[in-house]
Amino acid sequence: MSVTMDIDLKDLVRTIPDYPKPGIMFRDITTLLSHANGFRACIEQLVAPFGDRRIELVAGIEARGFILGGAVADRLHCGFVPIRKKGKLPGKAIGQDYELEYGIDVIEIHEDAISVGQPVLLVDDLIATGGTAEAAVKLLRKLRADVIGAAFVIDLPDLGGLARLRKLCIECHTLVTFEGD
Ligand code: AMP
Repeated sequence: MSVTMDIDLKDLVRTIPDYPKPGIMFRDITTLLSHANGFRACIEQLVAPFGDRRIELVAGIEARGFILGGAVADRLHCGFVPIRKKGKLPGKAIGQDYELEYGIDVIEIHEDAISVGQPVLLVDDLIATGGTAEAAVKLLRKLRADVIGAAFVIDLPDLGGLARLRKLCIECHTLVTFEGD
C-alpha cells in the first residue's frame, strides 16, 4: 500500500478567515504543499483519472496552479503552459476577462503556446465560482486546444463552479470539498 493513501488532504489545508477581505474563508494550500507525503498524495490523486488519457500539455493558472500543474505535468510526462495575470507573459499573448470571488481581472496565455487540437488538462488549486476556470477554458479554446478536463484540489460547492464548467462540457476532478462558502 502506498504511504500516501492514508493521508487526509483536507486536514492539511489551512483556513484563514477574512483573507484577503472580511467574509472570505481563504483555503490555504501552503500547509499541504510543505508536507512531503501530502504533496505527493495530492499530485497522485490529481492525476489519477487522467493517467491513461492522451494529454500533451498541462495548463496551470497563476499562481498556485503553477506549483500543482508543474508537478502534474511531470507525472503525466507532458509539457506545462502557464496562464498568467495580465501583462506578465513576455511573448505575444491573448487575454480573457474573468470575475473572481473577490474582484475582476484578466488572464492571458501565449498565443503560440498550444497547437490546434492539442489535448490539454487544466489545473488549479481551487474552484469557487468557476469564473477563473471558465475564462481559462475559453482562453484554451481560443487557441483551439482540446480541453480534456480540469483538476482542482479544492471545490467550494456552494459557489457552483463545477456546474459552470460542466456546462462547457469539461470533465472535472476535485479532491477536497469545503461546504458553506
Ligand atoms: P473562482 O474564479 O471564483 O472559481 O476562484 C478561483 C480562484 O480564486 C482560484 O485561483 C483560487 O486560488 C482563488 N480563490 C477563490 N476563492 C478562494 C478561497 N476561498 N480560498 C483560496 N483561494 C481562493
